[in-house]
Amino acid sequence: MPARRTIGVDMGGTKLLAGAVDARLGVHHRAQRRLTGLDQSALRDTAVDAVQEARASAGAEVAAVGFGIPVTFDTRTGVAVSSVHLELHDIAFADVMTERLGLPVFVDNDANVAIIAEQRAGSARGASEAVMLTIGTGIGGGLILRGEVYRGAIGAGAELGHVVIDYDGPRCNGHCPNRGCLEALASGTALEREAARVARERPDSGLGRAVIHGREPVGPLVTELAHDGDDAAIEVISLIGRRLGVGIANYVNIFNPEVVVVGGGVIGAGELLLAPAREEMLRRALPPARDEVRIVAARFGVEAGMVGAAALAFERFALREEVA
Ligand SMILES: [Zn+2]
Repeated sequence: MPARRTIGVDMGGTKLLAGAVDARLGVHHRAQRRLTGLDQSALRDTAVDAVQEARASAGAEVAAVGFGIPVTFDTRTGVAVSSVHLELHDIAFADVMTERLGLPVFVDNDANVAIIAEQRAGSARGASEAVMLTIGTGIGGGLILRGEVYRGAIGAGAELGHVVIDYDGPRCNGHCPNRGCLEALASGTALEREAARVARERPDSGLGRAVIHGREPVGPLVTELAHDGDDAAIEVISLIGRRLGVGIANYVNIFNPEVVVVGGGVIGAGELLLAPAREEMLRRALPPARDEVRIVAARFGVEAGMVGAAALAFERFALREEVA
């Protein structure tokens, strides 16, 4: 009988990724589901379905399930209070899922679990102070301070995507009441908005021609064209990167991290995104912190949240067994 596994589930703004993961954080089976437009009850059913698929194909006994979900928590009550992108609010998510799945379930914010994966075995391995940004539909934030995940007084902290970088900027996404947030200006959603604008302004560019021929100006298209050397696509990613650098300069000044890890779908752009972010951060942050910090891609890429949720389940489950 192989060693026990856990199932990690990352619920993003538009899709869910579940995986059966071993104790060395190797992934054995992956299940994906769309989440767009689902209400709270349908979201729960979809999550249960994906976990059951991963459990059936895990190849070993499943000990526990970890969820990374894009919500703010109140750890005093265990309630997921609100989500910018999903219809998840005022729900004791872990209790509900434990009952539905018949397995121990552990839940944390999606970017918190992503930084757990990166700090245990990825780009922030062993770091004492680290910042994680997961850039997809929105921007999730995770923090490691003094070697531990920092969640704030009641578990609602580290919302790094909702730091303001433009006082009079555009309205933020979904349920965020703010404007000019990093998320409003440098998320995948913002990238698509800027790509549509640049495509209109430069119809003769590769990006402009692709849109004229009916392609949607979505992240994967812009990234692909940028990697192929299209100036317009590179300009869009560079703009998003510079805005990201403004946000990162703030985190560098506040936290003096060893490393800033960037994950989520947009990191497919790699150095085309990270090089302008570094340049902008260096122009704005204070020495000596700015000269020491590394800005790097997530080792686990778009799977950081899923792998980290599985790692959370291993760690919490082991603790619980020790206590019992
Ligand atoms: Zn916001």
